[in-house]
Formats: sequence, C-alpha cells, structure tokens
Amino acid sequence: MAPRVREREGAMTDLLEAFRAGEPRALARAISRCEAGRGAELIRALYPLTGRALTVGLTGPPGVGKSTISGALVTHLRALGKTVGVISVDPSSPFSHGALLGDRIRLAEHFVDPGVFIRSMASRGHLGGVAGATADAASLMDAFGLDVVLIETVGVGQSEIEIAEIADTTVVALQPGSGDSVQVLKAGVLEIADVFVVNKSDHPMALQLQREIRSMMEMLDYAGWVPALVSTQALTGKGIDALWNAILAHDAWLRESGQLRAKRRDAFAHRVRQLAMGTLEERVEGAIVGLDDALDPYAAAETVVASFGIHDGVHATGNVRTANVVRATVKGL
Ligand code: GDP
Repeated sequence: MAPRVREREGAMTDLLEAFRAGEPRALARAISRCEAGRGAELIRALYPLTGRALTVGLTGPPGVGKSTISGALVTHLRALGKTVGVISVDPSSPFSHGALLGDRIRLAEHFVDPGVFIRSMASRGHLGGVAGATADAASLMDAFGLDVVLIETVGVGQSEIEIAEIADTTVVALQPGSGDSVQVLKAGVLEIADVFVVNKSDHPMALQLQREIRSMMEMLDYAGWVPALVSTQALTGKGIDALWNAILAHDAWLRESGQLRAKRRDAFAHRVRQLAMGTLEERVEGAIVGLDDALDPYAAAETVVASFGIHDGVHATGNVRTANVVRATVKGL
C-alpha cells in the first residue's frame, strides 16, 4: 500500500476512534469533512449508529427569534438532562464558518457546556443540495449519541421545505405584527408545519396572529396530525416547556401511527435522490459542453444518456422530482 494511502486510512481510523469515544473535536472534524464533500466514508461507517436522536427543524423569517428560541430550548432540555446538538444553517452564505455566526450570540452561554454541541454551517455548493451537508451533520450528531438534534434555518424559499424533509418534527416560528401569516400561506409553509410557534407573545398583536393561524388551519383538511399552536416569549423562556411538549406530542404521534418509519424512509429517499441527482447532473453538464449543436435536442439528449450506457432513447417526462407527501389539502378543492 502506498504510504500516503496508509496515512490517510490511519487518519480516518483515528478520527472514527475518537468519534466513538465521544470526543467533541472528532464530531467537529467529521462535520467539516462532510461540508468539504469528503464525508462518504465517515457516513458509511457511522450510519448504523443513527436513528436514535429526535430531530427537530426550526424555521421562520429573520428576526422572529429562532436563535433565542433555540437557546431557550437548549436550556430547557439541559434541565431535563438531555444532550443537544444545534445546527444553524445559513443558506445565503457561501462560506463555512464552522463556528458561531455573529448573530448566534443567544446560544453562546451553552458554548462551554459539554452536553451541547453547536455548529453553524453554510450549505451552498454541497453535492447534496441545501439539505445535504445539514443532513450529514444531523446524522453525525445522532451517531455521536446526542439526544436531540435541533436544525435552525432561515425561512427563505426552498431551504425550509428541505429541512422539513430531513427533520422528524418541523417547527415554524412566526412573529406578531409582521404580516407573517400571509407569508406562510404564500410560501406553502403551512403544509410543512407540525408545530406553529407565535414568538414574542409580549407583543400586542400576538393573539391576533394566533387567531389568523387558527383560521388558516380551519381551511385545511389534515390527513393525520393537526399542527399544534403554541405561544412563546423566548427572551424570558415563557412557553418553551409548552413548545417542547408539543414537539414530544408530535413525536409520540409519529411513533404510534407508524409515520416515523415512513417519514424517515422519505428522508432517506430524499438524501439518496439529492446525492444521485447531484452526481448525474454534473456528468450531464459535462457531456452537454462537448455536444454538436447541429443536433436536435432529442438526438443530443440521446447522445448524452448513451454515454452513460443507456440506449433506450429519451422522453420528455416533465419534472422528475417527485412531490412531497401531501399532509393537508384545502377544503372544498
Ligand atoms: P432570528 O433571526 O430568528 O434568529 O431571531 P433572534 O433570535 O436573533 O431574535 C431577533 C430579535 O428578537 C432579538 O433582538 C431578540 O432579542 C428578540 N426577541 C426574541 N424573542 C423575543 C420575545 O419573546 N419577545 C421580544 N419582545 N423580543 C424577542
């Protein structure tokens, strides 16, 4: 064996050993490897250890109080004796900090607690899309033995939907007096929420927002779980126990109804699809570059797929991306 290969394998063995021994630095290094697109071997080795953590996605517009809620939830969970991993996803940032972002100060008090592991990450440019590096990080935290993995992401477009695909329970935080309820309807966030949180319950419009969310929910027929609605004042910790209880209630429902298995199967499919499509897309792009543009698009596409050994032609199938499981439909439609 070449010395460099032996060295690399030795480093991997050391990393895995440190990881299994519960060294937080090994978890940090493992996440960095995944972020850099070199996580396949690690995930392969550690995947059998996953499936025990409760994974919670927390999404909502900037300023709603997500990091304050995360901090308060961590405090609550630590008081219950649970260990917690927090992944702070910043979909707009192309940079990986591997540390706290400036505005994640609320979590800083938990920095020195060995029962809490906090990680900020950018997710652009990862092979598995927005959710790819995040899903890897969540798997690693799960395999590390953390009881709860909290994934916090800014609600912009696709990212919150992706988080809902990998988390067991999705919490959508909204802010009174901001027109958030209208945004929710527009963005299709209503369908992904397992728990709604109206944060800043000290705000005069808080009750109004709760009423709006209730009336939006009344327009829907839910196929199973009806989202819980809780109100919090994250700055003081008020309502955080109710939030955790709502998450637990959803988790219990998932387990009792058999939906947890189905949900994790969907999450698995989502990750496989992202990885496989990412790899294929790269190859397709490479093949397109060298194409003769005198060809018609069908003939050109056939040339591309033939280069992968597929010879039974091409056909327009429209959007190949399968739709998410529909959890609710609008009444009367
Ligand atoms: P994020 O951008 O969603 O992560 O929001 P932050 O957690 O950074 O909070 C945004 C601002 O809202 C900060 O100034 C917080 O202090 C404030 N905030 C958070 N929770 C509450 C609350 O319950 N009541 C009030 N009045 N302000 C809050």
